[in-house]
Amino acid sequence: MKDIGSMYEQELKEEMLSLGEPAYRAAQVYKWLQSGVKTFDEMTNIPKSLKEKLVKNYYISFASIEKKLISAYDGTRKYLLSFPDGEAVESVLMQYHHGYTSCISTQVGCKMGCTFCATGKSGFSRNLTASEMLAQLRAEQEDADIRISNIVLMGMGEPLDNYDNVLRFLRLVGSENGMNIGMRHISLSTCGVVPKIYELADEKLQLTLSVSLHAPNDQIRSRTMPINRKYGIGELLKACRYYIDKTGRRISFEYAMIDGVNDSDACASELASRLHGMICHVNLIPVNTVGGTGYKKSRQDRIRSFISVLERAGITATVRRTLGSDINASCGQLRRAYKKEEKTE
Ligand code: SAH
Ligand code: SF4
Repeated sequence: MKDIGSMYEQELKEEMLSLGEPAYRAAQVYKWLQSGVKTFDEMTNIPKSLKEKLVKNYYISFASIEKKLISAYDGTRKYLLSFPDGEAVESVLMQYHHGYTSCISTQVGCKMGCTFCATGKSGFSRNLTASEMLAQLRAEQEDADIRISNIVLMGMGEPLDNYDNVLRFLRLVGSENGMNIGMRHISLSTCGVVPKIYELADEKLQLTLSVSLHAPNDQIRSRTMPINRKYGIGELLKACRYYIDKTGRRISFEYAMIDGVNDSDACASELASRLHGMICHVNLIPVNTVGGTGYKKSRQDRIRSFISVLERAGITATVRRTLGSDINASCGQLRRAYKKEEKTE
């Protein structure tokens, strides 16, 4: 059985021809799939004979809502979405003044093991397909009865560790007959899988790249982010410079402020000198609570002082607004859960 919802329109054309069908059926089937049908039966302009062939050879991915929490503070919605194989991921729908932003997952769990992150603590199960990433958006749109205008790949998983499926998703979601959400409305966050940053740069996409830096030097970063032992900060920032050169896009550096770990003025000036001359922005996130990590948020006055050191060195920095904190929907708080477990609760 093939995953038909992850196919480009051009690939569908080839499938139609191999099924002995005219090529124009591809456009019809593609539109149906992108509109979010869950069964072939719903494709009303497709003849029965073709539907039978489709049912035999392909499956349509969809996500079912297992659980939904709505923040009393800001209306942010966190969904636990399951796939037919029983695996489940979390996705978050946030409302901003310019519209709705969805934060979706790219993997079930994550292999990267960052010490401050709930996803990293819950292990890795499998990659998501492009159609499963699309299915998260559709489930949210349908449930909240809204249209999503922006997407951030900042849920569970490391997008660049699932590179091919993520790229396929980006192209599908931007297609005219699909959801038509362009690259300028999409951000991708990575912990720093260096070879893939080079590959992505060569694609010259107009998406926003966020890099989870979280430390100004290898000593601190290797302690909290195991990936740093493979690709150190020097190598990572070299890749970032290449990315900026190739795409002309500004990079956003994520920096979780952890009390007593990475939040001193000395850390700020080291960070400033490392980022010197780069077209970038620093996004500070007071670290969100994750059980068992022992990490605490930096104090307000510490954060203010950190920012002023950066600004004096000419680096712009802002503190990210925390949404959905009452429902554990903030950065790094998404974790693996099983559909089965949810049902027995
Ligand atoms: N794997 C990717 C994307 C998902 S995580 C990455 O790491 O970039 C989304 C963002 O939340 C990343 O910047 C991540 O470093 C950050 N994050 C993880 N745990 C956090 C925590 N406890 N508090 C604040 N931010 C956290
Ligand atoms: Fe994975 Fe990102 Fe969490 Fe690190 S911060 S464990 S890369 S999801």
